Amino acid sequence: MKLQLVASLKYKISALSEPVRIGFGLGAGFAGTLLVMVLVMTVGFSYMARIYADLEQVSRVNNVKTELAHKMKYVQRERALNLYALAMVKDPFEADEELQHFNQKAREFLLALDKFGSFGMNVQERDIFDKIKPLTEERGRIVRDAIAFAQTHQGGQSLEYMRKVAIPGQQGIADQVDKLLDLQESLTQQAVVHAEESYYRARLFMLALCGIAIAIGVLVAIVVLRHVMRQSRELEQKALFDDLTKLPNRSLFFDRLGQATVIYGKEKKPFSIVIFDLDRFKEVNDIQGHHVGDLLLKYVAQKVTAAMRKTDTVARLGGDEFGMLLPGVSADSAEIIVKKILAALNQRVKLGEFMVDCASSMGIASYPEHDEDIPRLLLKADMAMYAAKRANVGYRIYTPEIEMVASRNIELQHELRNAIENKQLQLYYQPKISHHSGSIVGVEALVRWNHPERGLVAPDDFIPLAEVTGLIQPLTLWVLQTAIKQSVTWHEAGHVFTIAINLSTRNLLDGDLPGRIAKLLATYRAKPEWLMLEITESSVMAEPARALDTLVKLNKMGIQLSLDDFGTGYSSLAYLRKLPVSEIKIDKSFIKDMEIDTNDTVIVRSTIALGHNLGMKVVAEGVENIEIWELLTALGCDSSQGYYMSRPITVSALDEWLHSSAWAKEKTVVQPRPHFIERRRKQFKTPKDVE
Ligand code: C2E
Ligand code: CA
Ligand code: CA
Repeated sequence: MKLQLVASLKYKISALSEPVRIGFGLGAGFAGTLLVMVLVMTVGFSYMARIYADLEQVSRVNNVKTELAHKMKYVQRERALNLYALAMVKDPFEADEELQHFNQKAREFLLALDKFGSFGMNVQERDIFDKIKPLTEERGRIVRDAIAFAQTHQGGQSLEYMRKVAIPGQQGIADQVDKLLDLQESLTQQAVVHAEESYYRARLFMLALCGIAIAIGVLVAIVVLRHVMRQSRELEQKALFDDLTKLPNRSLFFDRLGQATVIYGKEKKPFSIVIFDLDRFKEVNDIQGHHVGDLLLKYVAQKVTAAMRKTDTVARLGGDEFGMLLPGVSADSAEIIVKKILAALNQRVKLGEFMVDCASSMGIASYPEHDEDIPRLLLKADMAMYAAKRANVGYRIYTPEIEMVASRNIELQHELRNAIENKQLQLYYQPKISHHSGSIVGVEALVRWNHPERGLVAPDDFIPLAEVTGLIQPLTLWVLQTAIKQSVTWHEAGHVFTIAINLSTRNLLDGDLPGRIAKLLATYRAKPEWLMLEITESSVMAEPARALDTLVKLNKMGIQLSLDDFGTGYSSLAYLRKLPVSEIKIDKSFIKDMEIDTNDTVIVRSTIALGHNLGMKVVAEGVENIEIWELLTALGCDSSQGYYMSRPITVSALDEWLHSSAWAKEKTVVQPRPHFIERRRKQFKTPKDVE
C-alpha cells in the first residue's frame, strides 16, 4: 500500500512539467529551511526559559538560605555577647533584661534553623544541619548552667566560667553555621557556573541548528543553481544544436557564417560554404524506415566531422540537408576537401540490419570570390548542389552558368504553369500494335509542350521539373481529361482501342486520384476499360503502401494497369507479384539493339516468359525496324510500340494513319477481359491484402 502510494506520487511528480517540479523543489527547500529556523527559535527560547527558571530558583533559595545562615551567625554572636553581659551586670533588672534578650535570640536562632530545615537540602547541608541541631540542644544545657552560675557568683568568677565553658560551647555552633554559610556561597557559585554552562550549551545547540538551516538553504541554492544552469545549457544546446546528429543547427550555422564575414572580410581572406544533401534519402526513409533514415543521418554527421579540421563547421540545416563552413579556404582548396569527404562518405554501409548505399551531392560557393552577401552565397552553393545532383557528379563549384540554368528552371516553372492554364500542352499518340493480329490495340498518350518561342518541347525536358514542383498534378489531370475526351471521340468513330496514360510518383500518392478519374469518366461517359494507366516501379517504391492503395482502387474501378520501363527499376519479383498490373512494358533500352545484342534478346525472352507466367501481357517499346518486330513476334511478345510502326503523332495525324496504315487495316474489337485479369482482380480485394 505504502509502496503503491510512493510509486503513484513518483509518477505524479514525473508527470509534472520541469518548471513546476523546480517550483515544488524550491518551495519544499525553503519551507524546510524555515521550519528548521522556527525550530531553532522555539528550542532556543524554551531552553533559555528553562535556564532562567533554574537560575532564578537556585539563586532565590540559596539567597534565602544564605540569609538564614547569616541570621543564625549574627544571633549566635549576639548571644555570646549576652553571655558576657550576663556575667558582668550586677543589677538584677539589667541581668534579667540581658537574659530576656538572650532567650529571644535563642528563639530567633531556632526559628531560622527550622526555616532553613524547611527548604530542601542536599547531602552536605543535611550533614551540617544534622550536626547543628544536637549541638544546639547540648550547648543549651551548658548555657543554662552558665546563666544559673552567673546569677549566683561574683563577676570575675562568672566571667571566667562564661569564657571557659559557655562561650566555647557556642563557638561549636558558630563554626557549623560558618560552614553552612561557606557551603551556601559555594552552592550559589556552583549554580551560576551550572547556568553559565547551560547557557553555553544552549548557544551551541542553537548555533548548530542555525548551521543546519544555513546548510539546507545553501544546499537548496546549490541544487537550484545547478538545475537552472543545466537547464540553460540544455536550452542552449536545443536552440543551437540538432537533437539527432548533435551537429550545430541552421541558426548556429548562420551565426558562424555572420562571424566569418566579419573576421575574413577584415583580413581579406577567403572562406567556403558547402551545401549538401543525400541522394535518395527519401527512398531509404520510405523503404527501410525512418529509423534507418535516422541512422544514415548520424552516420553522415560522424563521417563528415571525422574528415574535417577542428576549425571547420558542419551543420544540419534540416531534413537531409547539411552545410559546411570551411574558414580560410578558397574554392580550389574546398574542392580538394569535398573530394576527400565524398570519398569517405559515399560508401555502402550497414545500418541496423540493412545495407544502404550512402551517396550525396555537394555544392561549393566561396567568399568573396562568388559573393560577399551570405544569403546569396548560400543560394549559389545550393544551385551548385542541384547542378551536381542533376548531372550525378558528386559535387559542383558554383559558376554563373549553373545560376543561368537554375534561373532558367525557375522561369520554366512559371512558363509551365502558364502552359497548363493557357492550353500550350498537346497530346501526341503512339499506336500499340498486337503481334497476334498485326493491328492496333491501343495508343499511348504522350504529352508535348507547344512553347511559343522554343517550339515543341519534349516531355523529358519538363516532366521532371513538373514532378519536383508539384505541377505534375494539374498536368496529369489535363492529360487525363484530354485523353478521356479523345477516347470517347474515337469510340464513337468505331475505333475500339485503349488509351494509355503515364502516371508519376506524386499521382500515385494522391489519394483523390481514383475519385477524380471516376468523375472524368462519368462526365465524358467513357468506360474505365478504355483506359490503361502506365506506372513505373520506382514511382510505386517511393511509398509502396500508399501507391498500392491507389493502384488497387484504380484496378477495382476496371482500369487496366501497365508496368512501364520494366527492367530499369528495382524489378523486385516480390513486389511485381503484389502489384495489380495486367501488363508489363519492357523498356526500350533492351529492345532497341536486340537484333545485335544477344544479351538483350536473352533478357527480353526471359521477361516475356516471366510476364506470361505471372498471367500478364508483355509489351515492347522502341521497336525501330522490322527485324526487331519479327524477333519479338517469334519470342511471343503480345504487342509493341515503336517508330517502325509509328512515332507519337497528333490526333489528326493518327486519324490519317488509321485510314492509311497497314497496321490499322485489320480493326480489332476490344477484347473481353482476359481470365487472368479477373483472377488477379480477385487477389486484390482490399489494400490490406496486398501489404
Ligand atoms: P515513356 O513512358 O517510356 O514513353 C515512351 C517514350 O519512348 C516516348 O518518349 C516515345 O516517344 C519514345 N519512343 C517510342 N517509340 C520509340 C522508338 O522506337 N525509339 C525511340 N528511341 N523512342 C521511342 P517521349 O514522348 O519523349 O516521352 C518521354 C517520357 O516522358 C515518357 O517515357 C514518359 O515517362 C514521360 N511522359 C510523356 N508524357 C507523359 C505524361 O503525360 N505524363 C507523365 N507523367 N509522363 C509523361
Ligand atoms: Ca509510358
Ligand atoms: Ca517506357
